[in-house]
Amino acid sequence: MKIYLDVIGCRLNQSEIERMAAQFRIAGHEIVDEAGKADVVVVNTCAVTGKAVADSRKKIRQALRAGAQQVIATGCWATLEPADTAALSGAVQVVVNEEKEALVADFLGLPVEEFLPGMIARRPLPGAHSRTRAFIKVQDGCDNHCTFCVTRLARGTSRSVPLDEVLADIRAAQAGGTQEVVLTGVNIQAWGQDFDGGLRLRLSDLLAAILRETDVPRLRLSSLEPWELEEGFFGMWQNSRMCRHVHLPLQSGSADTLKRMVRKTNPAAFRRLVERARAVHPEMAITTDIITGFPGEDEKEFAETLAFVREMNFAAGHVFTFSARPGTAAARMEDQVPLTERRQRNAQVREVLAESAQVYRQQFMGQSISVLWELAQEQDGGWLMRGLTDNYLRVEAFSPVNAWNTLQHVHLVEDGPRRMMGEIVD
Ligand code: SF4
Repeated sequence: MKIYLDVIGCRLNQSEIERMAAQFRIAGHEIVDEAGKADVVVVNTCAVTGKAVADSRKKIRQALRAGAQQVIATGCWATLEPADTAALSGAVQVVVNEEKEALVADFLGLPVEEFLPGMIARRPLPGAHSRTRAFIKVQDGCDNHCTFCVTRLARGTSRSVPLDEVLADIRAAQAGGTQEVVLTGVNIQAWGQDFDGGLRLRLSDLLAAILRETDVPRLRLSSLEPWELEEGFFGMWQNSRMCRHVHLPLQSGSADTLKRMVRKTNPAAFRRLVERARAVHPEMAITTDIITGFPGEDEKEFAETLAFVREMNFAAGHVFTFSARPGTAAARMEDQVPLTERRQRNAQVREVLAESAQVYRQQFMGQSISVLWELAQEQDGGWLMRGLTDNYLRVEAFSPVNAWNTLQHVHLVEDGPRRMMGEIVD
């Protein structure tokens, strides 16, 4: 069979379709690069915002119009709205998140034991979802109760992927030539907390095991909730294979807003965490997420957020306009902020983040830094290479040869609007 795997949303969703691709290949099926060439399409949906839900619907409809005989809809939207998803067409089969691990085995009518992690070398997906770096799922679900969050409703309680499976996935990625792995999950620092027999491990145990048991050149973490990171946690970054990049979703810089969000942090605690990370690497790239216009966020609270974001000097960040998600406590809260106001605040936070991001990049001008090339475009008898440094700088350089998926040192000479320009020195 020809299979097309489509995805909306987070790196966890991406890591899951990559695992499905490996499983379909183990069973002898072909992964194709578009829905029009496929017999069966799998869509890993998302529900984090209203737009993500609309995109999920659109992808399913596109697959049906492209002629797919069967569409398997899985992921967070399909899990939260199975009836709406199935109602799109009789050719749509819904597989909720709890059943996703066995999706391929169940669909092919084979035992899950036939698809153990690491059985086949990773190959980047063909087409739009091709990724040079490998996203490795280490955890799923969440036991926190942030009031705006729909992910915890769709993915259930926290559960860890066993260490040997994580190591097998990383070795399979390396067998496929991967230079960098990105550990992903819903709340990865909960890894190891749910193991049976009182064996409670921590994320730092997982990192230590990966650094000891594999020789993957680069190890990156997708995101860390800014709490429950033990003293000494950032000591892991003394190992130069750890990417100097930590994504800490702050969401708000106001203590009162954070309380209504039921976030297990406050501005003072967040500041200390950032200081701990920068104590290990002063040039550590700290990136973040901010939600603007959370219910009850008045001018004073927003001013606190703006000032705190400015103080933190983030290397980059995403800003989300609050979107009330059905089933969340925040959607039922009073004092909803008008949409225009939410959007205006979004623009203000983006401006502050853009300023600190530029300051962060400037400190690397004139330096030589290692870049992993993720994109190669033929140009002027050579190749325009684009890639990422370990500290999350996007870099572009010209190369006489196609250097895709290699690590090279680049002398940074210019800071462009979308990425920095450099000259390859290796
Ligand atoms: S920590 Fe909060 S925002 Fe993150 S997944 Fe859990 S409930 Fe959602």
